[in-house]
Amino acid sequence: MSFDQFGLRAELLHAIRDQGYEVPTPVQEQAIKPILEGRDLMAAAQTGTGKTAAFTLPMLQRLMETHRPPRQRRDWRPVRGLVVVPTRELAAQVLESTRTYGGALPLRACSIYGGVGITPQIDTLRRGVDIVVATPGRLLDHVRQNNLDLSEVEICVLDEADRMLDMGFLPDVRRILALLPEQRQNLLFSATLKGEVATLARGLLEQPVSVDVSPKELAADTVEQMILEVDTGQKLALLTELFAEEEWDQVLVFTRTKHRANRVAEALTKAGIRADAIHGNKSQGARTRALAGFKNGQSRALVATDLASRGLDISGLPQVINFELPMVPEDYVHRIGRTGRAGAGGAALSLVCGCESIQLRAIERLLGRRLPAEIVEGFEPDPSMRHEPVKSGGGGRGRGSGGRGSGRGGSGGGGRGMGGGRVSGGRASDGRARGGPAAAPGSRGGGHRRPPQRGR
Ligand code: AMP
Repeated sequence: MSFDQFGLRAELLHAIRDQGYEVPTPVQEQAIKPILEGRDLMAAAQTGTGKTAAFTLPMLQRLMETHRPPRQRRDWRPVRGLVVVPTRELAAQVLESTRTYGGALPLRACSIYGGVGITPQIDTLRRGVDIVVATPGRLLDHVRQNNLDLSEVEICVLDEADRMLDMGFLPDVRRILALLPEQRQNLLFSATLKGEVATLARGLLEQPVSVDVSPKELAADTVEQMILEVDTGQKLALLTELFAEEEWDQVLVFTRTKHRANRVAEALTKAGIRADAIHGNKSQGARTRALAGFKNGQSRALVATDLASRGLDISGLPQVINFELPMVPEDYVHRIGRTGRAGAGGAALSLVCGCESIQLRAIERLLGRRLPAEIVEGFEPDPSMRHEPVKSGGGGRGRGSGGRGSGRGGSGGGGRGMGGGRVSGGRASDGRARGGPAAAPGSRGGGHRRPPQRGR
């Protein structure tokens, strides 16, 4: 299939060619045509699938069809396209895509999000825009201040709807929807279409076309995944060691909490590895600088929380490390989706402690397979350690096994391993040859494997 078949305007086709896109991705193949026909649509697709172009291209085309050129530059333009997203980063990226694809069209777009001054946004809105890409809270602030009128919106996109609900945006989303005209086209994109998202979709969409780009296939096909079993207290040391050994240029490291993201970035910096953290407590300026520094190679590691990472588009990222497993299994798929994009190879290493066995099992259930696991020599989990499961809400901070400095030197070989019942030395994996003799009972060391070199 080619982009020519959709009947898109020449300006859009040029932009697609300029980007070097040869064929539509699966979500584009399935979504563009029904959106152009004016249908409502819900799509199970996440960042990395090409979903932004899947809604931006047909939205631009349709808005051009109803576009009335203003007679004077200062003539009022109603907002006709609205994209609601969960995070500032995603808002910035969707705006960038809109401008990339629609740069040759006489449509104006802007992004609206919190954490930055409101006045420049007011000025932009007053000058008139056709498309607004916004996070819910700041969007409503503008409505309350009468800076923005949503009564002429023709197309409304809820992007990463699952994440918006996770972040507690449902009441705000409902308030926004209530401000829109009844007659409009609705598009909903979400990593999953289950639970609350399904309820929202049912109430919002009219006879929608449904598109499903399965995350299972995405995760399984292009990203080489590996678990390294290690006690919590040894994770920082293992991470530093991995950086010292592997020739990684660019690694995205995930933690569950902002606090831990800071600590990991600090520890890496202390060890001489250029690292930065990106999370919701950082100012927008600091986040933008951290991302830019990572993209241009100033820093080798970017340590991120799930919320901050949502929507980050860093092309050609070879390596992702889960310093901690996420509480929500879908987030694992999302995290490792930062690598292995557009068919390129990528690798995802997860440092997993026995206290995370519940999360690991949930991820494996979602993926439909067990992940290969290994133990790095010198970082063997202490088999005598009792593992208290990490529970949601607390972000796992300070819990679990192996408090700092206590995770090594346990007695007895062939211990419980993580997840219960696994033998020390790692689970049988994918048949990759692994060296080293079997561990002798009661001994430490020998029998454990070094992880294969990866991520080149
Ligand atoms: P998204 O899922 O929208 O975040 O897009 C992920 C990445 O895929 C972005 O860097 C896009 O530029 C890229 N992309 C989108 N559509 C295509 C395509 N048809 N072919 C190749 N790359 C694409």
